[in-house]
Amino acid sequence: MIDTLLQDTALRHRLFESGFFFGDLEHDFGYTSKTLTQLGFGDQEMRSGEYQKRIHPDDVPTYEALWQRVNEGWANDFYVEYRVADTDGAYHWVETHAVVISRKTDDSIGEVIGTDRDISARKEAELVLERKVRESLRNLEVTDEILKSSTLATETAMLSRNLQKAIGQISRIVQFERCDIYACDRLGETTLVLSVPEFGSPDETAPEPFDAEVAVSSYPVIRNNLPGTGPFRSALGIPLVTDETHIGSVYLWHRAPGFYGGTDLYPVMTVGTIFAVALHNHHAFRQTVSELETDELTGFLTRRSFYRTANELWEDRRARGSSHTVAMIDLDHFKSINDSYGHGTGDSVLRSVAHLISTALRSMDILGRYGGEEFVVVLPTTDTVSATLTMERIRHSCEVLNLPEFAGSVTVSIGIATTSDAGDPEPLSAVIERADQALYRAKRNGRNRVEVTPD
Ligand code: GH3
Ligand code: MG
Ligand code: MG
Repeated sequence: MIDTLLQDTALRHRLFESGFFFGDLEHDFGYTSKTLTQLGFGDQEMRSGEYQKRIHPDDVPTYEALWQRVNEGWANDFYVEYRVADTDGAYHWVETHAVVISRKTDDSIGEVIGTDRDISARKEAELVLERKVRESLRNLEVTDEILKSSTLATETAMLSRNLQKAIGQISRIVQFERCDIYACDRLGETTLVLSVPEFGSPDETAPEPFDAEVAVSSYPVIRNNLPGTGPFRSALGIPLVTDETHIGSVYLWHRAPGFYGGTDLYPVMTVGTIFAVALHNHHAFRQTVSELETDELTGFLTRRSFYRTANELWEDRRARGSSHTVAMIDLDHFKSINDSYGHGTGDSVLRSVAHLISTALRSMDILGRYGGEEFVVVLPTTDTVSATLTMERIRHSCEVLNLPEFAGSVTVSIGIATTSDAGDPEPLSAVIERADQALYRAKRNGRNRVEVTPD
């Protein structure tokens, strides 16, 4: 019926100009749309199946499925967007919208009319938009990761756990096969704080950092052609800077050469700042803790932190079952030193005695300022005999101590108690109490002496 209508040349021309096409599949007859004519397809190509062959392979399944649906009578409306190659082989996005007008006796498509439109410009814009959306989502993800990392900067207590978390976050932003974090002290000495081999063994030696370059750079440094025998060919070195001071570096390593690029720099730099703040806060926190835990005058542990440290050792001792000695050291007639020479001199004497005690002891010994002029010492895995020798040495060196600001002699009284190897382990407080009794006896017996409490 429609072919009768199309015999009107003027109407056919108007339809052609508007992008319409017509097909009569029963009589193998039709008019190609202006759109496809411009792409180089004539009626011949349309009817011979040449056109279908030029459809982009990725779009063929959709095109065919939709056509089949209409051809089998499931729908009369055919709408599809696909790419088709013009005579020069260049692809164009085409939108075909057609309606079945009549069907053959077997119900397949007979007459069909529709339009073809070149939608390349729209598709291009859509693809650009899609890419932008994907990029934005990625940026959002990166920002989110950065935000998450930034909370780490305020958590200060567990450095390695925080850095581990930060590495986890950086791994969602930039790929790497190994990550090393170096901290830098005031003298510029660099130490490896943490290594995370993603695909290696934990004891694999860390690749040589290039800190001479990273430490003086304000930006991450890319090395994409690493020489040498190590497994890594690419690296990204990120300087960690706070208050314009280089405090460390993060290194990301990858086996593939040429792996890192400019787009990695911005997010990595931001994360670098967060790492830097986390590291800086950690150092500040450690310093504050150590200031709180140690007595300012003598450098010994405060009574409270002495108890904490000594109790930890005590728990350990219970497991190991070895004997330990506790010594209480008290300055003799210290009040009279204060009274005669003033508190300044008193302080200086206290400091000198504390220094003398600490130099006489081992690094494993625990030193606490128990009271004003009274010190407590735990000597781990030490018996009474060797503890007495050590304490006698301390007593003697105090006696002969020569202080410019103080003419008289400084003496100390010392009480010692050692844990028993037999029976139930004695609590720390009980051993301290026994050492205190020994000290009391030393005072009573004339001062400037060492007394031992039997177990
Ligand atoms: P004893 O031989 O019986 O131990 O006599 P002592 O005078 O040493 O003992 P006492 O407990 O009577 O006095 C301790 C003095 O230590 C009193 C206090 O003023 C002084 N003292 C405590 N802490 C400090 C300090 O930090 N600096 C100074 N200069 N003096 C302190
Ligand atoms: Mg005293
Ligand atoms: Mg005292």
